[in-house]
Amino acid sequence: MTGYFFWREKIHQDFGHAYKVELVFEERNLQKVQIFKNQTWGYFFVLDGIVQFTERDEYIYHEVITYLPASLLKRAPETVLIIGGGDGGVLREIQKIPGVKKIVQFEIDRIVFDLCRKYFFKLMGDYSDPRVELNFVDGLQGLKESDNETFDLIIVDCTDPVGPAKSLYSLEFYQEIHRVLKPNGVFIQQASLPAYFPHVLKLALQASSVFPWFDIARVYVPCYGEELAFILGAKEKKEPSNPLQAYHGKYYHPGLNKALFTLPQTWLNLVEKRDPELNKGSVL
Ligand code: SAM
Repeated sequence: MTGYFFWREKIHQDFGHAYKVELVFEERNLQKVQIFKNQTWGYFFVLDGIVQFTERDEYIYHEVITYLPASLLKRAPETVLIIGGGDGGVLREIQKIPGVKKIVQFEIDRIVFDLCRKYFFKLMGDYSDPRVELNFVDGLQGLKESDNETFDLIIVDCTDPVGPAKSLYSLEFYQEIHRVLKPNGVFIQQASLPAYFPHVLKLALQASSVFPWFDIARVYVPCYGEELAFILGAKEKKEPSNPLQAYHGKYYHPGLNKALFTLPQTWLNLVEKRDPELNKGSVL
């Protein structure tokens, strides 16, 4: 490991988050992968210059992206699809849900998986579980090779649409998700930080033209420095504030649903395309 230095996560030309770190690993392949060590956040994982998760608060993100959609289902999901999620955090939470029979994963970058298995093994789910089918393939390609109405729950735990994830924020992608989702299933996707990157939520809004039921949720994950958005879609109406399944984690509990689905006016404006200011790159 190197000595300590300050690394900056660049949010905008003139703004970023600075961390005093030791560099643990760095390599550029399909994506630029960096692993740093920091006193406050512990070891943390960076792709293409953007913090993906930290040892300290990853459970907040992984619990909400898993339990929030699962709480809206009539019964526990039997078949689950994870797109992205190479760090194994979503798999870890899925494997805590009783009744899951099959878990399929489409992760595009084997290096992410191998590095997380080496440096973040404790945070990963159990890939030796016979229910798990891990495929190193682009998410959209994997969907195209999947049968109709196969999955109860689809979790898109991907990077922002800067590198290989561009195809995961397209109308074609949402139409394929719709095709492989079961009639009473539900899908969720991370839609980045609207305060910093409102264009990502705008791209994700394309899903609202595909799914009869569509909604947006938010959660504050301290290491991201801002609230993160999730989009959710389903073929039948869901009751976000009246969860049908009760899951409990270190952070998530069913009583949180109402708060997580209550959006600030700036986001509502963005969704209702009412505020031209938002096209200028910030909702602050
Ligand atoms: N929590 C993070 C966030 O909110 O930004 C996401 C973490 S997870 C590490 C993101 C994963 O998406 C990475 O492993 C990356 O390789 C994967 N990914 C990116 N583009 C993809 C694609 N087109 N198909 C499948 N996986 C993809």
